[in-house]
Amino acid sequence: MDRLPRIGLGWDRHALAAGHTCKLAGLEIDCPVGPVGHSDADVILHALTDALLGAAGLDDLGTLFADTDPRWKDAASTDFLAAAVGLLADSSLRVISVDMVVVCDLPRLAPHRGAMRANLARLLSLPVNRVNLKGKTTEGGPANASAAIEVHAIVMLKDVTPSGGCA
Ligand SMILES: [Zn+2]
Repeated sequence: MDRLPRIGLGWDRHALAAGHTCKLAGLEIDCPVGPVGHSDADVILHALTDALLGAAGLDDLGTLFADTDPRWKDAASTDFLAAAVGLLADSSLRVISVDMVVVCDLPRLAPHRGAMRANLARLLSLPVNRVNLKGKTTEGGPANASAAIEVHAIVMLKDVTPSGGCA
């Protein structure tokens, strides 16, 4: 088995609606609208988890934690991320860097960006400088753009299989 780094890409999009808790990157954000979903709808953690699973050659989030499965109703997306990190460890893979772009008009990301990076770094046991996240607005995109939040995530993994073992 080669030990080259692995890259993974994740994407997710949720509608935003009033009356929904705005949970992003594992943090509750004060915002009049929040992502709508079966779990806690943490779109940042969903894109990140899918990127990790993709890099490891594993099934995607929707397959592992189907939104039709009552077990995941209102589930904490931090549990999905922790499960993915566990699967990576089972495959002797460890995440070494994460970069993300979050596209939304609400909430405004800038005031929360530092706390989000810190929390993602904590969840992944990485230094904060290995986890980045940028907020972008839709800049007058489709009329209903402000009613959704979209996240792109890219990750790099390294193979941490102990060297010198027998094949
Ligand atoms: Zn999602």
